[in-house]
Amino acid sequence: MFNKNELKAKIETLAEEMNPDMVKFLGDLIRIQSYTSQERPAVDRTLAELHKIGCEEVWVDSAGNALGRIGKGKRIIMFNAHLDTNEVSDASQWAHPPLEPAIEDGILYGLGASDCKAGVAAIVYGAAILKKLGLLEDISVVVMGATLEEDAEGFALRSLVERDGLKPECVLLAEATDLTLRRGHRGRCEVHIRTKGKAVHASTPHLGENAIVKMAPVIEALEAMNGHLPEHPIFGPGTQVVSLIAGPHTPNSVPDWCEVALDRRLVPGETAESIVEGILQVVGPLGASVEIPIQPVKSHTGLQLDGPSFYPGWLVDEDAEIIQVGKETCEALWQQAPKVDVWKFSTDGTYSAGVAGIPTLGFGPQEEPYVHTAMDQVNLEKLKKAAMFYALYPVIYQEVTGAKSK
Ligand SMILES: [Zn+2]
Repeated sequence: MFNKNELKAKIETLAEEMNPDMVKFLGDLIRIQSYTSQERPAVDRTLAELHKIGCEEVWVDSAGNALGRIGKGKRIIMFNAHLDTNEVSDASQWAHPPLEPAIEDGILYGLGASDCKAGVAAIVYGAAILKKLGLLEDISVVVMGATLEEDAEGFALRSLVERDGLKPECVLLAEATDLTLRRGHRGRCEVHIRTKGKAVHASTPHLGENAIVKMAPVIEALEAMNGHLPEHPIFGPGTQVVSLIAGPHTPNSVPDWCEVALDRRLVPGETAESIVEGILQVVGPLGASVEIPIQPVKSHTGLQLDGPSFYPGWLVDEDAEIIQVGKETCEALWQQAPKVDVWKFSTDGTYSAGVAGIPTLGFGPQEEPYVHTAMDQVNLEKLKKAAMFYALYPVIYQEVTGAKSK
């Protein structure tokens, strides 16, 4: 048993002491361009920091994630935040150049600050404080600077768990939550719907069969499915949007194929099979075929991680232990219970909670409105608070779960 007030005071002091190093680390990460599959330099920079904070072990797994372990316990709590960022579409929209971190009035601006490099800084420095506290017994914390999240969330985490055999007991995701808790999100998947025709010269259309014309009622039927998709009490109804269309690049022929891509947002419980089946029932009679495409994914280590473009939704029970521990952590640090909500976007939790069933919780300093915008930023006071949360969480988790097993 520990005295929570003493511990809180200690964590505050350490967070204050380490703050300049944490902010410098975040600035360095922002200076390093790290688009999906090109994370190597950001991984190397993170490994250096994990060495510096005194991790017992620092390594890179087959998928190229940056990993560091604090403690020697067999039970593992994972801290996860990703190093890849989405791409800048128009740098002229940015008040500061995206790769040049700028601090104004306690706010740090830069590409990936809110998604998700401030999360990486928070978990690394949460672990750094935790290391100094020296309170871990049968638990160790594995810090994961994750790769491939923007294009294929969950794929790199899946590889770490299933290929390299790391089995965390719970996963904390430092994505944007503005210092509140998140316990799930909708899933998503891409579906390809295809019609076939018969190609002939465009001067004799009556001899052919036009696949684009066949697609017209299929598109209408797909759009009309909205309002009839599976619903969830928290997430509401699933939705779908026809987002791409393709056919042969031969303007003087009757097209013999046409394919649309559908972006489908799912509620927890929907499976790849149930999605395909539900769509096929509607468009099958119109002569269309349905499949979930395989998404090509290559890690910066050269590992091919291709898999179905299917990312299940998930929702952790409100009474779950990991959420209780999250609340207790916030209460111990700031004397108030945090809001518990769900995310609008998808995260690595699609694998940890959605596929592997590992209890997963979101907590991060970043704010959702700045994610993927030219206003990308993080509040540095919130960053420091998030590091404090990550320092205390494992101690309370160990206390709560250990007490139960005794
Ligand atoms: Zn993210």
